Amino acid sequence: MLMTGSQYEESLRKRDLVVYLFGERIGNVVDHPLIRPSMNAVALTYDLAHRPEHAEIMTAASHLTGRRINRFTHIHQSTDDLVKKSKMGRLLGSLTGCCFQRCVGMDALNALSITTHDLDTRRKTDYHRRFLKFLEYVQENDLTCDGAMTDPKGDRSLAPHAQADPDLYLRVVERRADGIIVRGAKAHQTGAVNSHEIIVMPTIAMREADRDYAVAFALPSDAPGITYIIGRQSCDTRKLEGETFDRGNLFFGGHEALVVFDDVFVPWERVFLCGEHEFAGGLVEQFASYHRQSYACKVGVGDVLIGAAQTAAEYNGVAKASHIRDKIIEMNHLNETLYCGCIACAAEGHREASGTYMVDTLLANVHKQNVTRFPYEIARLAQDIAGGLLVTLPSEKDLKAPETGRWLEKYCRGRADVPAEHRMRILRLIENLTLGTAAVGYLTESMHGAGSPQAQRVMIARGVNIKEKQAAAKRLCGIPEE
Ligand code: SF4
Ligand code: FE
Repeated sequence: MLMTGSQYEESLRKRDLVVYLFGERIGNVVDHPLIRPSMNAVALTYDLAHRPEHAEIMTAASHLTGRRINRFTHIHQSTDDLVKKSKMGRLLGSLTGCCFQRCVGMDALNALSITTHDLDTRRKTDYHRRFLKFLEYVQENDLTCDGAMTDPKGDRSLAPHAQADPDLYLRVVERRADGIIVRGAKAHQTGAVNSHEIIVMPTIAMREADRDYAVAFALPSDAPGITYIIGRQSCDTRKLEGETFDRGNLFFGGHEALVVFDDVFVPWERVFLCGEHEFAGGLVEQFASYHRQSYACKVGVGDVLIGAAQTAAEYNGVAKASHIRDKIIEMNHLNETLYCGCIACAAEGHREASGTYMVDTLLANVHKQNVTRFPYEIARLAQDIAGGLLVTLPSEKDLKAPETGRWLEKYCRGRADVPAEHRMRILRLIENLTLGTAAVGYLTESMHGAGSPQAQRVMIARGVNIKEKQAAAKRLCGIPEE
């Protein structure tokens, strides 16, 4: 079944999540003005799948049932699937101008399809069968999954079992005949309260002493004992000011939450790793590499920001100035370089033993490393082009008030043929993307999402064959092999 956006919204209403925001429990998550824009962004992943012009990118044939499914629930069956995934990220980023959240679940499903298969092959366990059953349920019901990896981690110099508080990494506290009891938390959970299911994975490679922390499972997002505490974003209360264009992006946004698991029961059928610590590192690397590819989304958001900067330049009457044109070229150069990375790691993907296609790990890490940098430079150039009014602009209410509106009409205008309101709207969008709620997704999430920069550098160091490069150099200048 392919849900529509409104069916998705209705499906969320049936969940009974425990969500806190500003110190109070929210009853209705879907209609809350601070969360609704993020729900709208996920809803678009459903609606686009019904549009014929996007069907090729947004849907795929399930390898389990052969039925048409949303690509966000698909297990990649070819490098073509991987390339389409990158294109889907750019498309949705450009249509929402924010984080649309659904990729983490897709990446968790694909990583688990590989790890559970490898586990069963080497350990004669039953995880892959369980996983495929869960996957079919997700595909058949077109569910959104949250991929929950990042633990709070406490003292970074200590292993999970050595922390002063043993709950700083999520762990199994009890094994029962019918399932396990888990305790801990997952931080920075993108789109958590817009998800039907939450897929938990370990966050680092683990040793024998950490075996209770080597756990992966899936639960309905409203399972008893799970609490969500919504994170704040810069300028988030703009969304509480009603329908004003001061929000910048009128339709979409993202959200993150701290998700607490207070002795939560997980039935064995939903457990995909439990104690096999030596498989934790591989699962983390697979998920991280897939999610680093997913940062194709930032290329789409970059498209929006470049479009906004060009528009601001035109409204200011400076679009033809050579330095402005050069800055727009630079922004495009950086953005398309990002696109090269997410396409390349997909095109160079390979088949794993499970049949799942995996991105090229080195190139995925190089791509994400670029993402930790280029959006900042693109944002800097956008702010340069936008001018200082970006941060001194009065509110929409001042534009609408009779006493002040006439002054703003007169003095906030750039080119005479462009209404002041249009100039204000485009500046608000640039503010949203580079300083406001969407800057969480475009900037800081670009830095830390899918692993902070150093994590990619470690993977790059591991992925390159430095000896081969040395041999190539030595051969050319006549140094004999040692
Ligand atoms: Fe998807 Fe990008 Fe949001 Fe991550 S940051 S969930 S890749 S849209
Ligand atoms: Fe992310």
